Amino acid sequence: MSEARAVTRILTRRPTVEGAGVRLQRVFGQVDAALDPFLLLDDFGSEDPADYLAGFPWHPHRGMETVTYVLAGSVEHGDSLGNRGTISGGDVQWMTAGSGIVHQEMPQRYEGRARAFQLWVNLPAAAKIMDPRYQEVVAATIPEVTPTTGVKVRVIAGVVGGAVGPVTEVMAQPTFLDVTLAPGVAFEHAVPNGHTALAYVIDGDGRFGASSGRALTDGQLAVLSDGDAVAAAAGPLGMRFLLFAGKPLREPVAWYGPVVMTTEEELETAFREYRAGTFVKKRG
Ligand code: FE
Repeated sequence: MSEARAVTRILTRRPTVEGAGVRLQRVFGQVDAALDPFLLLDDFGSEDPADYLAGFPWHPHRGMETVTYVLAGSVEHGDSLGNRGTISGGDVQWMTAGSGIVHQEMPQRYEGRARAFQLWVNLPAAAKIMDPRYQEVVAATIPEVTPTTGVKVRVIAGVVGGAVGPVTEVMAQPTFLDVTLAPGVAFEHAVPNGHTALAYVIDGDGRFGASSGRALTDGQLAVLSDGDAVAAAAGPLGMRFLLFAGKPLREPVAWYGPVVMTTEEELETAFREYRAGTFVKKRG
């Protein structure tokens, strides 16, 4: 019998300003043993292009990985590996900063409500200086499965009912699912004991763990206890949520802005090299 994970904490997104003046919502962005290996989750959602058009002009990253998921709207990008492109509705982009990448991410004008998410995943100390890499995953290659009636799962990373998500190379081997439940429908997904599991509601409402728990709505994240499985049940509106799970690294974290290392000395080196123009070790 599986042991469903209980909700230990609820985090609610909060407005913040990032990049060149993008107004977004931060769900979390901190060193926290309960979130490890995840570092940050941002939720971009706006009907007003003035909130996002300033974008994220050229900036560095080192020592971490990002997974960006665009639901509606589009983002143009370019990086020091020579990649250029645009990701839009349903597409995913993942990037390993490794030893260093400089890139820009520029949201484009969109009619209607643009919505996207960016997850930061820490790199193990031994992989922080690996070569940077970048991959675009178009929506059509992301499997969408219906394990039971009223359940729809887009498998971005991980496995559901034999369907394997295309994002397989993030070092922490995280699970990243986009789950839509019809009103009143329940869903369970096995997540190994010892792994971190987080569920972020992006539409509707519902509960995680015990059915007596508090309902979460759009913009709320459940930090889940240890256990064998994540159990979710949609409320009367149905529920859509993102499920993130991964094995914790349990290593020291030295983090400043876009650079995530293990020691303060490595952080200082990163910013000194950026000022000196020697930050990028590998180009395309
Ligand atoms: Fe960035």
